[in-house]
Amino acid sequence: MFTIQGKSGNWEVVIGLETHIEVLSNSKIFSGASANYNPTIAPNTQACMVDVAMPGMLPVLNEYCVDQAIKFGLGINAEISRVSRFARKQYFYPDLPQGYQISQPADQPPVVGRGWVEIMGDDGNPKKILIERAHLEQDAGKLKHDAHPTKSFADYNRTGVTLLEIVTFLDVKNPENNSFISSPDEAERYLRKIREIARALGVSRANMEEGSMRADVNVSVRRAGTNTFNERCEIKNMVSFKFIKTAIEYEARRQIEILESGGTIERNTMRYNQGDGTTSVLRSKEDALDYRYFPDPDLLPLVITDDRIERIRRTMPELPEATRARYIEKYGLAEYDAARLTETTDISKWFDTSVGDKPARAKSIANWMISELFAHPENYDITNEIRENTDPDAPRIITPENLAELVDMIAAHDINGKQAKEIFTKMLDGETGTPREIADKFGMKQMTDTGAIEKIIDDVLSQNTSQVEQYKSGKVGLFGFFVGAVMRATGGKANPGVVNEILKKKLG
Ligand code: ADP
Ligand code: MG
Repeated sequence: MFTIQGKSGNWEVVIGLETHIEVLSNSKIFSGASANYNPTIAPNTQACMVDVAMPGMLPVLNEYCVDQAIKFGLGINAEISRVSRFARKQYFYPDLPQGYQISQPADQPPVVGRGWVEIMGDDGNPKKILIERAHLEQDAGKLKHDAHPTKSFADYNRTGVTLLEIVTFLDVKNPENNSFISSPDEAERYLRKIREIARALGVSRANMEEGSMRADVNVSVRRAGTNTFNERCEIKNMVSFKFIKTAIEYEARRQIEILESGGTIERNTMRYNQGDGTTSVLRSKEDALDYRYFPDPDLLPLVITDDRIERIRRTMPELPEATRARYIEKYGLAEYDAARLTETTDISKWFDTSVGDKPARAKSIANWMISELFAHPENYDITNEIRENTDPDAPRIITPENLAELVDMIAAHDINGKQAKEIFTKMLDGETGTPREIADKFGMKQMTDTGAIEKIIDDVLSQNTSQVEQYKSGKVGLFGFFVGAVMRATGGKANPGVVNEILKKKLG
């Protein structure tokens, strides 16, 4: 249990996250404008009449975004609402010309209801984190205040891009239920899990640096061993795992100090100050905004049929957690290896392709990938973020098929491990051709002819008579010396298994 030591005892931290992910789709949630928002696109070239709220423009719900929300909901084991509603959240700010944001507020059914994800808890055991809801809403535009000394600019390209907001649940009525986030590390693991699911399903890039994943962090504290929920503060708009962890810890300590000196916590909205890692009040309860929510009269209730949910369920790819379980069960991989191979969907697809329909290859392929391939991210044809910051022109000729062939050649004793490593290195260096072609080209063939090996062994033993005597009088550690000598004499080509066998026989 994560606790913070105060002056008068230990404190626990209670954390609730509201995570926004930008939903991948061609067009925006209520308009046909391109949703491919990114900072390199010229301002206001992807904002249409609906986005800038010209009079008379009507929103039309993007059904693909609804599908995406359903898909995500199924990915977090959630109930999908058969009927949900959109409402207007009124506020005036120039980044949203409508004067309100269309959202699915807490007192209306959201498209995705109660669900859960499993993370590793701080005690090393699996821990369920309950999710209250996930709802669809519009993103706002971007204001630019630093481009001109006296003017501000508004870019509406992002206005109306689809967001899915995922809110964790606190079981206030059932305080023994501790399926919530209770430490900075668990907050990070939860967010990584959300990101993993969103990416695996193709629902979002969920990338904090680019802003396609952002979180509001609610923090409260309570004395260790108690199970009431106390007043909380909310830190707005966090976009880095590291900052989130620092902010939670700072905010918790701030609250502990107030409580220990006899004060009370006000439900404030906080900002995080990157410079010094502190939190400070952005607005207090008194200036809490009244959004005057009301059902959007331009949008019908969102009705989702069972058929639609089933259709989407059938298209769901295997989620990384299930992939890991499969690797462990079916291939007998270690947990660590299974985790490395499921870091991204691209990696697990690569591994699956390489294993193909030969499970016997799996362990060997896993070893090669983790210990060799991952050390050379520029050289393999996995398209994923591991390759970021590497030379884009480096040859990527180690394909899943190549690695499979290499592993098969070792298993068939066509080459030994040392030769395989040489072929692998040659491929990294840009040698073209399949492993078999490379082996042929460089005359790398394993020596399996027992007669020939036996002859070399006889030579080695007769050249090292004193070592043979020592071995026979009990210095069995010398066995490796003989193996080494034989391997050297064969130019590394002998089958080590055969060498071992014959040596054992000869040395008695
Ligand atoms: P709001 O309506 O202010 O957004 P919600 O009730 O929707 O508040 O809760 C927002 C988030 O805050 C949820 O993730 C919830 O679990 C979390 N939360 C609620 N109460 C607390 C508390 N006492 N301590 C920490 N987090 C809390
Ligand atoms: Mg909220």
